[in-house]
Amino acid sequence: MAAPGLRPGLLRVTDQAFVTLATNDVYCQGALVLGQSLRNHTTSRKLAVLITPEVSSGMRSVLHSVFDEVTEVDVLDSAGSAHLALMQRPELGITFTKLHCWTLTHYSKCVFMDADTLVLCNVDELFDREEFSAAPDSGWPDCFNSGVFVFRPSLKTYNLLLQFAAEHGSFDGGDQGLLNSFFSNWATADIGKHLPFLYNLSSSAVYTYSPAFNHFGRDAKVVHFLGETKPWNYKYNLQTKRVIQDGTISGSVHQLSFLALWWNIYSASILPLIEKLQKMEESESEEYKHTFNRVEITLKKVSPSVPPLLQVPVLPEQTNEKNPTVCSPEELAFKAQPVCEAELSGSTAHLSEPDRPSEQLVFHPALQETSELDEVARSVSELSICFKPEEPNPEDERRKWEEGRMDYMGKDAFEHIKKKLDAFLH
Ligand code: UDP
Ligand code: MN
Repeated sequence: MAAPGLRPGLLRVTDQAFVTLATNDVYCQGALVLGQSLRNHTTSRKLAVLITPEVSSGMRSVLHSVFDEVTEVDVLDSAGSAHLALMQRPELGITFTKLHCWTLTHYSKCVFMDADTLVLCNVDELFDREEFSAAPDSGWPDCFNSGVFVFRPSLKTYNLLLQFAAEHGSFDGGDQGLLNSFFSNWATADIGKHLPFLYNLSSSAVYTYSPAFNHFGRDAKVVHFLGETKPWNYKYNLQTKRVIQDGTISGSVHQLSFLALWWNIYSASILPLIEKLQKMEESESEEYKHTFNRVEITLKKVSPSVPPLLQVPVLPEQTNEKNPTVCSPEELAFKAQPVCEAELSGSTAHLSEPDRPSEQLVFHPALQETSELDEVARSVSELSICFKPEEPNPEDERRKWEEGRMDYMGKDAFEHIKKKLDAFLH
């Protein structure tokens, strides 16, 4: 199947990729808009996103609909002594995570882009550049800005970077300081490794040199919303399709138009994906129902973050292997003070607590140790097992009456019989 957004007939370069990073669901929104903007401008390269365990399962599935590859990495990974040194430098956690892009060695060359960037046109020509290419930083132009850079994945470079991070740290506490120190000859060695500023146009540059922006700005290729306030921090009116202005952005028409573009992509392409997922989660969150051997199992889900796939198959798989029709509470993986125990044998349910009505047995979830079940435990508030009433067989019913085995408390209770008589007489 053709990748989403790929123009028919466009040759795909499968060993090169745009790579971004999102360590949480909030930054995922930026990553999604970036990915969508690359798709909109029909990139021929693959799209890869690095995520960390904090990213929810729902957001992961949304990421999969935009990116070719979603790779989970640890915020801090085990890497020998470099790792230990980094552990004492918690501020480098995110820096370290970005460094993981060098481990994507199934690509020969990549372009890293921050999740707060947005492409305004096709920028595939960036792959003509060599490692390490980046654009000058607007605050200190002898340093590059690490929001957009060209690199070659390599475990050797990755390990050297880790070692460097452990030994020298980062002069700004982030990835930019570290990378500038590591690729320290960037400023002077090779002008070919200086990307034009248009490939990493920081929105703040609009303020600092507005004549240049007015002159060159129309050729901008990548906008970078660097700084504390990101596009997703603004309010947007979905009806009027306008960013709701407040004091912080009132001065810049350009910044507003970039923000509006970001929000247009978000509302047109990303929001529908998120809404679709939410709807699915809502319907799934009500109940998962399974029926086997006339026993209906209802799983009520409380955590929207656990994928339904994980929850659905667990219970039927817990049946006794020797006799698949027997399923004790333990085998249902529920132990520790069940309110009532049930064992299914063939099609009959035997209850060990006769006082309790057979229609509804409720087990409070204390699940067994397996990791899969632990996952379920986190997402399940309540398991109820409902015994479906048997279809009454008139022959059986008559025999029961003849043998004196009437259901006095249930359907054969006097009030029911009276009702039937009344209905018959009237
Ligand atoms: N990032 C992330 N989670 C965070 C902070 C940063 O995933 O909590 C990633 C994301 O790709 C982001 C990049 O690291 O774009 C650099 O951070 P940011 O863009 O916030 O820094 P700035 O460009 O504003 O200096
Ligand atoms: Mn950034």
